[in-house]
Amino acid sequence: MKRKLSLRGQLLIILLVFIVLILTIVYLFQTNFLDDFYRKSKENSIIQVAENVEKYLKQNDVFDYYETIGFSNEVCVRVASNDYHYENKGACILRSLDDRTINNIYKEVNDNSGSKMFYNFVSYNEFDARENVKDMLIFGKNIKINESDILILVSSIITPLNATISTIKSQYVIIACVVIFATILLALIISHFIIKPINKINSESKNLSKGEYNSNNIKPFNSEYAELNETLMKANDDILKADKAKKELLANVTHDLRTPLTMIVGYGEMIRDLPEENNVENINVIIDEAKRLSTLVDDLIDISRLESSKIELSYETISIYDLLFDVYKQYEIYCKSQNVSFKLDAKKKYQKIMIDIDIHRIKQVIYNFINNSLNYNNKAKQKIVLGVEEIKDYYRIYVYDNGPGIKQEDINNIWERYYKVDKTHKRNHIGSGIGLSLSKDLLIAHNLKYGVESIENEYSKFFFEIKARE
Ligand code: ADP
Repeated sequence: MKRKLSLRGQLLIILLVFIVLILTIVYLFQTNFLDDFYRKSKENSIIQVAENVEKYLKQNDVFDYYETIGFSNEVCVRVASNDYHYENKGACILRSLDDRTINNIYKEVNDNSGSKMFYNFVSYNEFDARENVKDMLIFGKNIKINESDILILVSSIITPLNATISTIKSQYVIIACVVIFATILLALIISHFIIKPINKINSESKNLSKGEYNSNNIKPFNSEYAELNETLMKANDDILKADKAKKELLANVTHDLRTPLTMIVGYGEMIRDLPEENNVENINVIIDEAKRLSTLVDDLIDISRLESSKIELSYETISIYDLLFDVYKQYEIYCKSQNVSFKLDAKKKYQKIMIDIDIHRIKQVIYNFINNSLNYNNKAKQKIVLGVEEIKDYYRIYVYDNGPGIKQEDINNIWERYYKVDKTHKRNHIGSGIGLSLSKDLLIAHNLKYGVESIENEYSKFFFEIKARE
């Protein structure tokens, strides 16, 4: 398999690419586009001045204002018209323009829809003797006030940026070196605080599958790592628990399979060797044991199906009474033979209360409850009740027994797969007793609430709740 780049390497590369990108963009803007930006901003500022002059001219009282503009914005202003001439004071290049030039400019501005930016003033040869004219930006605007034509000229000097750009370039090398160095340092710091603990947890979690995750080696310094560590610790515990429980289950299942097999082989051999033993009773033992094996295998198949969530329910409608009565009939004779008092507590009115369930599956759940009641009850007067009670808008179907009950500390665990309170219970004749976890999965598949009420040494009452068909 191709080895992937480590998180630390990825982080360093991402940060460096990011920083180089930023540096390149800044470099391009600072060097290549600086001149354009500068010119554009100069243009905008003299256009703005021209507009302000126009506004104030229209208010008539303008002279003081020119002076202020002329000096404060490093621009020079000249207003020319037939009626008056105004020139800004100071070393303003626009002062030297004679009337002929002003007229030429006026015409050119007019031809350009009333305003024009002059980038190279050399063509107006009155100035070409002066060196700095080339770096001059002049904006002209024609306006009309009280029937007189007025030309507003605003000029500004453009400072050459070559020297500035070369300074920036030489500074830039230093800045780039410092930033790249700082980036590498940052990547190392992040890596130390974030990636190192991840690597630590990663190397520890390689032992997770063996249930050997050692949280003592992890020293989480923030809540996320602490949480991850706790989750892995819990997963580790669960793996250990599941592993132990699986071993126990295997031992139980093996035992449960072996008992009927021994009986079948034993009775079979007996009938073969002793023809007088070939009677219905003995053959029935073989048949019963074979059925028991078949039930056990069915339950094991169910468990594996449920584990890969392949269970499919086929819903049918049945009355609560019929459901309970069918189950009751299944157990009646057996319980009598075992001296167990088994009662059905379902009034005839429940014959009219219909429910939608997978009958076979729900019967399996009730069988599991009853089998457990038979399995775990050692009292002389064993009592089991299969019944239904109405609670608000649903019906609670329950199996009650006066058995040993369940300790509070076990009550939440008994529904877990492979969980057993006492590891050495006897197996009952009917059903495999694999369990409550199978019942839980079946009830969840039906979307039904379920639970148990119990007091130790007094009783257990396992139940599920169902609504009647609408
Ligand atoms: P299994 O019967 O194969 O041990 P279950 O999942 O049916 O497994 O039951 C889990 C545990 O719950 C049992 O080991 C038992 O300790 C407890 N339990 C179940 N039903 C009863 C009951 N009616 N009375 C007392 N304990 C019970």
